[in-house]
Amino acid sequence: MEHFINYDSVTAYYFVTGGLFLMYLAFRILYSLIVQNNFMQTQYRAYGHTWRSIQCNKSIPYNIYCTVCEKLMLAVVGLFCECCAVSACKKCYKTVDKRYKCKQLTWPSNKIFPHQWVDVGISRTDIAENNDHSDDSTKKYFCSWCQRIKLCNNTRDLKTEQCDFHKYSNIIIPPTSVQMEKGNVISIQPVNNSNWEPLIIIANRKSGSNRSDEILSLFRGLLNPIQVIDVSVTSPESVVRWLPEKCRVLVAGGDGTVAWVLNALFAAPHIKAAVAIFPMGTGNDLSRVLGWGPGCPSYIDAHSIISSIKQATVEQLDRWKIIIKPKRGRLGRRAPERILHAYNYASIGVDAQVALDFHRARTQFLYRYASRTLNYIAYVFLGVGRALDDGGCEGLERRVRCCADGVALTLPPLQALLALNIPSWGAGVHLWSMGSEDEVEEQSMSDGKLEVVGISSSFHIARLQCGLAEPYRFTQASNLRIDLEGSCAMQVDGEPWMQGPATILVEPAGQSTMLRANIKRSEC
Ligand SMILES: [Zn+2]
Ligand SMILES: [Zn+2]
Ligand SMILES: [Zn+2]
Repeated sequence: MEHFINYDSVTAYYFVTGGLFLMYLAFRILYSLIVQNNFMQTQYRAYGHTWRSIQCNKSIPYNIYCTVCEKLMLAVVGLFCECCAVSACKKCYKTVDKRYKCKQLTWPSNKIFPHQWVDVGISRTDIAENNDHSDDSTKKYFCSWCQRIKLCNNTRDLKTEQCDFHKYSNIIIPPTSVQMEKGNVISIQPVNNSNWEPLIIIANRKSGSNRSDEILSLFRGLLNPIQVIDVSVTSPESVVRWLPEKCRVLVAGGDGTVAWVLNALFAAPHIKAAVAIFPMGTGNDLSRVLGWGPGCPSYIDAHSIISSIKQATVEQLDRWKIIIKPKRGRLGRRAPERILHAYNYASIGVDAQVALDFHRARTQFLYRYASRTLNYIAYVFLGVGRALDDGGCEGLERRVRCCADGVALTLPPLQALLALNIPSWGAGVHLWSMGSEDEVEEQSMSDGKLEVVGISSSFHIARLQCGLAEPYRFTQASNLRIDLEGSCAMQVDGEPWMQGPATILVEPAGQSTMLRANIKRSEC
């Protein structure tokens, strides 16, 4: 019998399977590069527990055995509640939701608030130390409010004592002070303790990186979950309605999130809140200036963040109001006036154009894969691209007239005009003091003055970033008036847009209270 092999179909088969395997391999490599940690994306809930994979970075202990079926949990099936530390496997977590209560956000003020003990496993090492080999039922209980651990073999002994919140009593909002209505916080009654200064954590879970989600998760375990705010669900404007009069706020995010929170706090002058920053953006200039570091560290330790916020000192930061009055167009129509607030810097010209290119590219395809390295590479490429094509910023000095405190500035050939509030620009460049340090007036972020500088081209930006050039230093002023002819890119605190012909007024708008880190944080 003649065997006939169809070589074409065999080749096709190997081609297909080989192709599929290579695709899978490429997917795995990309996946491992893109996904930095394996957080199960959960949203905080007021009822039931907030489950996370046990592989996550945690601030509280957990039981490696399921609370219901008592089986040892593998990393793939193990879950724990990020608020109260109860653990369960993927089969049993719904039973735990029904059987055990999570941290109570609110509690009647006339009743004592007891410890909330959660079983976090059998303590074999502790038994060995106590030479008590006979008793194998001694369990470790963890109070999810005061973080104490108690060894005990009878659950009835646990429930009576009052919880004092121990280590973090000065920064926790106790459930007895919280007044809630329909799941929303209405008000916070002050605590009878002069050292009480609650810590509020604000982050944006939808900011593109899952590190913000990690911050929210870590602090829900240590504080009252109402103190941990995800701005993608609750806006800062609604939070300031119930914030205690004296508090410290940690904003985990980029310059945009920080400015959003500062504006909301400024609108509520009765609240004396001092703001610390956990850097999560690309530039993080304000964070660098205040000593909170240039970027997010690879490992986040919530306890050390709390201690550096406690030791931080209060400092004032100038706030600036930017009024943009568009000029009449050809048809005689005038666009509406725009008002913005700046904390870091504002600029017109080529640096805003690079930021705008980056902003457009990111919203198109990079946003989904937000990684700092990729963002940085994209930024560099776009900057080089703008060196070859100035984006209409050439000869800016002919289209811009600038008056600083009523005095008109004489401008040399320029491609960008900047007004700086803080001594850091473009991810850590000390623009004002570059070059001749001894002759330059001091730059301060609380002196009520802006520093006006100019940049001649995007090559000039590149040389400034390497420390090889100095900018044009024009003046220090409190009031600016800029008349712009034609359109040009503009930015305020890293938020860029295309600006048409307009008169731009910059004037002081009070101060914000910030926190300066005293310990140097480890840089990544
Ligand atoms: Zn189970
Ligand atoms: Zn829970
Ligand atoms: Zn307790």
